[in-house]
Amino acid sequence: MNFHVLTLFPDMIVNGLNTSVTGRALANGLIHLNAVDIRAYSKDKHKHVDDAPYGGGAGMVMQPEPIYLAYEHMVKEMEKPPRVIYVTPQGEVFRQSMAEEFAKEDDLIFLCGHYEGVDERILEEIVTDYVSIGDYVLTGGELPAMVMMDAVSRLVPGVLNNEESAEFESFHDNLLEHPHYTRPVEYHGKKVPDVLLSGHHGNIDKWRREESLRRTLERRPELLSQANLTKEDYKFLKTLGYSSKLNQE
Ligand code: SAM
Repeated sequence: MNFHVLTLFPDMIVNGLNTSVTGRALANGLIHLNAVDIRAYSKDKHKHVDDAPYGGGAGMVMQPEPIYLAYEHMVKEMEKPPRVIYVTPQGEVFRQSMAEEFAKEDDLIFLCGHYEGVDERILEEIVTDYVSIGDYVLTGGELPAMVMMDAVSRLVPGVLNNEESAEFESFHDNLLEHPHYTRPVEYHGKKVPDVLLSGHHGNIDKWRREESLRRTLERRPELLSQANLTKEDYKFLKTLGYSSKLNQE
């Protein structure tokens, strides 16, 4: 997986991804990072990359030309036109299924805005996907791009030590994951559920499935309508008061 980032703050991206799991994946060559400073492509003698908005109003707008020149240089060697993701609060909200889709690509370009945003004409010309990380406004696109690269990286084979752990996590199949416990058996008066100490794998799997259903119902009930639920799942959910789709029993 080759990540390319068009940004005014390449150090932020490089430093952010160079730690922990993504740092190890970069060191092992499982993912590659090419963070390009848009400012380096400014033809302005003061290296300006932004200007006041036409029509007036507050803030500055990133100009199209430096972004286009940086993009053109970036894609020169690529065999096919890559997906170009503009991270923006105006995009579709990022979710696990999107990360799975992005993980199939060889190259991904992230365009990070700053100030009021980016001149619309360059967006129309190069962007394939408009993606937000949530309904709030940040100062720049670097953190959202890092969030997406992190989520995609963990789906690249070999990046996680135990590949299974990416497969059964929250949002896989639209359910939240069950709770986890580790040593000690008792902590601040609370014991690990007995079933997890029983060594009975059938019962442990059943408990985990039920806790996953319980948690999803409590915290993100809207996910349940898209989850692949069995008759047993519906039966269990009914005991918790979930009433939708009970006709499937
Ligand atoms: N004026 C823009 C608007 O109202 O849509 C917001 C600009 S914001 C201050 C600057 C940049 O941060 C955006 O161009 C975008 O790249 C990034 N950004 C801010 N919030 C974001 C979010 N929730 N998701 C993704 N990117 C975001």
